[in-house]
Amino acid sequence: MLSYQHAYHAGNFADVHKHLTLFAVIDHLLRKASPITYIDTHAGRGLYPLAAEETAKLQEYRDGIARLWQARDRLGEIPLLGEWLAALGRVQKQGNRLDHYPGSPWWLSHRLRQQDSLKLIELHPAEHSHLLQQILPRNVQRLHGDGLKELDRRLPVKTPRLCVLVDPSYERKAEYDEVARAAIKAMAKVRHAVLLIWYPLLPAGRHRELLDALRADGLRKVWRSELIRPAPASQQQGMQGSGMLVVNPPWGLEEHLVTAMGAITPLLGEAVRFQHDWWIGE
Ligand code: SAM
Repeated sequence: MLSYQHAYHAGNFADVHKHLTLFAVIDHLLRKASPITYIDTHAGRGLYPLAAEETAKLQEYRDGIARLWQARDRLGEIPLLGEWLAALGRVQKQGNRLDHYPGSPWWLSHRLRQQDSLKLIELHPAEHSHLLQQILPRNVQRLHGDGLKELDRRLPVKTPRLCVLVDPSYERKAEYDEVARAAIKAMAKVRHAVLLIWYPLLPAGRHRELLDALRADGLRKVWRSELIRPAPASQQQGMQGSGMLVVNPPWGLEEHLVTAMGAITPLLGEAVRFQHDWWIGE
């Protein structure tokens, strides 16, 4: 079953949370010169024109990135947000107008250095073929296949550092458990890896299986952040929040992200809350 297409949701509040976290992690990793391998297990298309039929249908970006874009002059003065919004500005085709939203392949590749490499894995044939059309640096490899299996096959890596983003669509209930098992296996192979895992907060609360499995295995240093957006009464089955785990977060990440998320959360809606903790400590 592969019915999920990220184009319907591009730029929504969860993307803001996910990509700002990813941007902050990359920003911290780039403070050292040693080479990094990045792996994006569920890459999607890479770039989303907001006028595309799918994105224009739900226009979820209006309650997400568009609100920050409108406030970019003020937000631009806040560390991390300034650089993030400036990067976002470079993707726009019409100067000041927000017309494109970049997905994780773009966020991961836009500051890729010569010594780094990036692997983008996508299973959906149409999404993969969209990704092939993107202009990306030479040290980016695009793979058609199952993200978690490919991750396992490709570890360990030759570079001293590794950063992995796991961002599935969770269309199947088993995916929460599969992600936990894949994460545990990956961390056993590369203990110093920085691993980011996104999960949705849905009424069924299945993300707890993922969180509990990671804790039960004895993984260390897992920082969790959640952007909670209660669904309106008419959409009680919908997503009520976005969760991010960062295993082995770079030093200083927490402080920068908490400040940035604190500044943008009120713009995303009155009832929206941001919370964070060490799900598993040192
Ligand atoms: N990471 C992207 C971003 O931030 O822009 C969004 C990814 S979207 C949430 C999930 C993607 O995973 C979809 O494009 C879907 O086609 C793809 N997918 C689903 N099952 C997969 C699998 N087993 N392996 C790799 N990709 C898969």
